[in-house]
Amino acid sequence: MEFKIAIGPQFEGERIRKDDLFIEFGGPKVKAKAELATIKKMDEVEHGKIEIIGPDIKDLAEGGSYPLGLIVEVAGTELDPDMEPVFERRIHQYCNYIEGFVHMAQRNDIWLRISKDAVKQGLTSLDEIGKVLIYLYTSELPIIERVAVTFITDAQKVENFLPSALDVYKARDERVRGLTEEAVDEFYGCTLCQSFAPTHVCIVTPERVSLCGAISWFDGRAASKIDPYGPQFVVEKGELLDTEKIVYSGVNEVVAERSMGTNDTFCLHSLFDHPHTSCGCFESIAFYIPEVDGIGILPRDFEGASVIGIPFSTMAGELSGGKQVEGYVGMGVEYLRSPKFLQGDGGLRRVVWMPKKVKERVKDSIPPEIFDKIATEEDVNDVDALAEFLARVEHPVMAGEFS
Ligand code: SF4
Ligand code: ZN
Repeated sequence: MEFKIAIGPQFEGERIRKDDLFIEFGGPKVKAKAELATIKKMDEVEHGKIEIIGPDIKDLAEGGSYPLGLIVEVAGTELDPDMEPVFERRIHQYCNYIEGFVHMAQRNDIWLRISKDAVKQGLTSLDEIGKVLIYLYTSELPIIERVAVTFITDAQKVENFLPSALDVYKARDERVRGLTEEAVDEFYGCTLCQSFAPTHVCIVTPERVSLCGAISWFDGRAASKIDPYGPQFVVEKGELLDTEKIVYSGVNEVVAERSMGTNDTFCLHSLFDHPHTSCGCFESIAFYIPEVDGIGILPRDFEGASVIGIPFSTMAGELSGGKQVEGYVGMGVEYLRSPKFLQGDGGLRRVVWMPKKVKERVKDSIPPEIFDKIATEEDVNDVDALAEFLARVEHPVMAGEFS
């Protein structure tokens, strides 16, 4: 297969600086963006078909940020619906195989950047990216027999596509609710992000979705079956060493091995001591606010500064790269719904601030007695005001419940 642009795993981890950027799709400046992989019946997928709905790379003004809907339809006689999220996460990996093209984040958070050099080399059409994706899906995952790719760049049409994608994500997230860590023997690991964060390992349990939010325990299971030597693999739980912060011997062994000895302990449900590492594509950040002894939640799409005066991008820079940074942890927003959410630190009762949008999203998982005690950006804008708010509503942190 011949392409106008170079491809290969050596280009993963590449970065495109502002001066080298030709255009970007999605990212913080663009509201309408989403990617979705769907499994279809064999006769519903025309293998190799690439559709571009809206302007193409060459039609777009240099330096701009544009909406994008990216849909990968796959078919194969052996495919099962569990595999959809696994295939969807491969969009990230395969796009990053392309020289001069970078894919970040996932679902409706995607951010894709094309370099000026790539355009010079011939990446002037999304068609080229579609061809690479089709080639990689079928050559790397033989279970996939047919692939078609659609790019939607027409702003209105991306808006129209978004709700259906959100419905799919929601249904996937709901599936795992109710399943506990105690009820399973195996967790799953993922090292897909090691290209950017070489010591990072994600541990996915039924009560801890991956920090990108894209891999649940079911997805880890499906992925490890499709491709046992691939980026997602089985993690034997082993022995429970800490019942508060939840530390398992099997998890520690895998983390030590896959982080090349950099980290040897993971507290699965605490941001103190030895928190889970964070690569760079976390959907949100849980961060400790020492002044009030509470925890704040900051999602990627929050505009402006958090309650401690720091915006997402700055805070993300502090904890990304596969480090264990005490007091911070990157997490999937869905993790807020987990009965084990930061249980070693006091769980949702310790949360003092989160944006209104997140609070609404996980409303039914927040205990009613503390719902109104968690401040949002509409209540307070700095730590002093937060402290006053927490005192006024008699938040559990004020009673010293966690000290
Ligand atoms: Fe895998 Fe974790 Fe990266 Fe998601 S964030 S792709 S689960 S390593
Ligand atoms: Zn990542």
